[in-house]
Amino acid sequence: MAKQTVAILGSTGSIGRQTLEVVKHLGLTVEALTGYNNMALLARQVSETEPRLAVTSTAQKAMELKKLLQEEGSWMPEIMYGAEGFRLAATMGSAGMIVAAMSGVAGLDPVLAAVKAGKRIALANKEVMVVAGQLVCALAEAHGSAIFPVDSEHSAIFQCLNGRTLTVAGTAKGAAAETARQTGVTIRRLILTASGGPFRGFTKEALATVEIEQALRHPNWEMGKKITVDSATLMNKGLEVIEARWLFQVPSSRIQVVVHPQSAVHSMVEFVDGSILAQMGQADMRQPIQMALTWPRRLKTCGRYLDLIALGQMTFEEPDHENFPCLRLAYDALRTGGTMPALLNGANEGAVAGFLAGKIGFRDIPKRIAAAMEAHQVVEKPKLSDLLAAGEEGMSRVLGK
Ligand code: NDP
Ligand code: MG
Repeated sequence: MAKQTVAILGSTGSIGRQTLEVVKHLGLTVEALTGYNNMALLARQVSETEPRLAVTSTAQKAMELKKLLQEEGSWMPEIMYGAEGFRLAATMGSAGMIVAAMSGVAGLDPVLAAVKAGKRIALANKEVMVVAGQLVCALAEAHGSAIFPVDSEHSAIFQCLNGRTLTVAGTAKGAAAETARQTGVTIRRLILTASGGPFRGFTKEALATVEIEQALRHPNWEMGKKITVDSATLMNKGLEVIEARWLFQVPSSRIQVVVHPQSAVHSMVEFVDGSILAQMGQADMRQPIQMALTWPRRLKTCGRYLDLIALGQMTFEEPDHENFPCLRLAYDALRTGGTMPALLNGANEGAVAGFLAGKIGFRDIPKRIAAAMEAHQVVEKPKLSDLLAAGEEGMSRVLGK
């Protein structure tokens, strides 16, 4: 089998860096890399992997990158910046797999471009599915674009379903899509596991005074700042419920969240015959990243193996909805549908940015999102422009503009 060629959108981030480790381990070819602010790291990645294209945020950043590469006497790719550059990276003919690892709604435009170009996409950027899951899935089927989940929970479910999901098989139409549909009918519930984050067990009073630094200290995973705060509020799990709804075409009433602090079971599928399949492993994103890149082949990992004896025990408990209302807000948004999930996502991005800037407290995050949702006039059958507008509305409402 020919070696996979990849374009990595968001290569300077946590998922991007781990993708590059996997790419190196598997000996794959890098066609494009994109960063945003961190040009020193992007320059290092470019000189190591020699892609054809490197993309960044602005003309100034592009100059900075070029200068760094010149100073090092390094390989010089084509350098672009802004939306056009990100779109090109997402659609390059020479890239067999697009890794979508930007954070936030910024990834939506390039992912839509990749979907319309019929690309195979390894999707980490969950906000894309939260904002426009229905649209992305419909376009993926129409253009024959296969979406492989990178988020560990969704990768776990994907593996439990043996890859027979519509977002992959649906693109092949015919027999494969039919098998995927039949597999879908046999699912009773998807069970997403959540670590519970750094504040599991905290009281309302204790939560009122938590500091930014505490929220950024996740017990089991090393991730970018936004998703780390989302994990502390449980909004991350809420976003993942929405992501699962679209990736696996299962309604929210059949998606359960259980808190599993050991993060050894990455998620489960309960079938109608009472059987539950779980996928387990180390809490190490390189496993799901590699799965998305090599599916259906399983190759040796560059990560660690799970030691069950050292793990000792596993526990499962109900999420604390009272102290962590974000999870319920996400279920509410999904049930309401239309533009509400996009509004929720924008409000959350705004609230997390406000929290990280020290402008609002931890407990204000759900309060402000709930107020923004209350004030929103839902568009029931939204166009892309409605979804984007709802996101912007959510963001400006929480920031009190
Ligand atoms: P990071 O914040 O670490 O990385 C984000 C990446 O996107 C960086 O390369 C950053 O560039 C780039 N970027 C930031 N803003 C923009 C923008 N406006 N336009 C274009 N590029 C931009 O995030 P993570 O790697 O943690 O997460 C990436 C995605 O994967 C998120 O959607 C997250 O929810 C999801 N995910 C992450 C997991 C994890 O373990 N980290 C697990 C599961 C899902 P630069 O750094 O150069 O500024
Ligand atoms: Mg996850």
